[in-house]
Amino acid sequence: MESIPFADLGLASARDKVLAGERLSLDEGLALLECPDPHALQALAWAARERRHGDRAHYVVNRHVNPTNICVNRCRFCAYRRDEGQKGAYVLTPDEAMAKLADAGPLDEVHIVGGCHPSLGLDYYLDLARRVRAAYPRASIKALTAVEVEHLARLSGLDVPVVLAALREAGVDMLPGGGAEIFADAARRTLCPEKLSGEGWLQVMAQAHEAGLRSNATMLFGHVETPRERLEHLDALRRQQDATGGFVCFIPLPYLPGNNPLGAEAQGPQAMDVLRTVAVSRLMLDNFPHIKAYWVMLGLKLAQLCLSWGADDLDGTVVEEKIGHEAGSESSQALTTAQLEEAIRASGFTPVRRDGLFRAAHDGNAPASAGKEAPHA
Ligand code: SF4
Repeated sequence: MESIPFADLGLASARDKVLAGERLSLDEGLALLECPDPHALQALAWAARERRHGDRAHYVVNRHVNPTNICVNRCRFCAYRRDEGQKGAYVLTPDEAMAKLADAGPLDEVHIVGGCHPSLGLDYYLDLARRVRAAYPRASIKALTAVEVEHLARLSGLDVPVVLAALREAGVDMLPGGGAEIFADAARRTLCPEKLSGEGWLQVMAQAHEAGLRSNATMLFGHVETPRERLEHLDALRRQQDATGGFVCFIPLPYLPGNNPLGAEAQGPQAMDVLRTVAVSRLMLDNFPHIKAYWVMLGLKLAQLCLSWGADDLDGTVVEEKIGHEAGSESSQALTTAQLEEAIRASGFTPVRRDGLFRAAHDGNAPASAGKEAPHA
């Protein structure tokens, strides 16, 4: 750290604030993102990460379930959605969804997201959540993005807080962070004009936190947004977290250009841009406990590198992933616990197994039929 010329780089105040544990301004974050010497940024992100997490890096034994790819929206970066009746369109029955979970063995987290189906109503999701909760009493259930929640509320003629309360009652612990994309209005209109606005996304998250649910947050980057819009996105999340405190983890997601209309004009971020964005996320989001390097969309090797640039989590075993892979992700569909632990150790960190809420997890949550688990608290 001593050998890095922070003052010459115009980063003296940013360095001083990071080392004192003080909050960076948006302009300081932007100067770090665009800093000509990336080692200066990496050194500060390392210091912030180490202060919070030491040499620990987290992972989760989880399984993704995507109930349907039929969606009323037409986000231009999406390779996953289908129209009803289109080749490849599907809706899983709850039995099919449960069978996918059962095949995965013991789980610490169940992750449920999909498209905004034109008629699949709240009852379907409540039934699925209840069945997952009964089968996995202690696993975290992370289900439905803010976009899906708002869609279900409109479809059902219910207020968003009523939908959130029903999901919580059915056993959902938290919302995944998807659908945030980039909050800036003009970029969002280009990317996903039908989708819930950035302000609407933040409002649903506030309502979720007020309902006692936790959530993650994401940012899709490396498409049409400007560097300042990335910082504005982080700043909006930081202000929301100050107000409601329910975010657990932030996940910067690189745009993947495969099989989607936006791919004709945007290529996605370079590796160094990914590392810079992860580092700035760690430094700006001083009130977020965790920063995730999502190996599915980054690829495992780049995700490993992100652990030294501010991230403290690699996500999990996943088992089956559709959304990133249909957009061209070349990563595996699944990693074993041993592979995740080896990936973390090989990066110089100590693996820590966690559930969706980052509570310690050790032995997996076997399905209830195995008769070993106490009821979910
Ligand atoms: S990103 Fe989500 S909301 Fe947008 S089209 Fe794809 S499935 Fe639908």
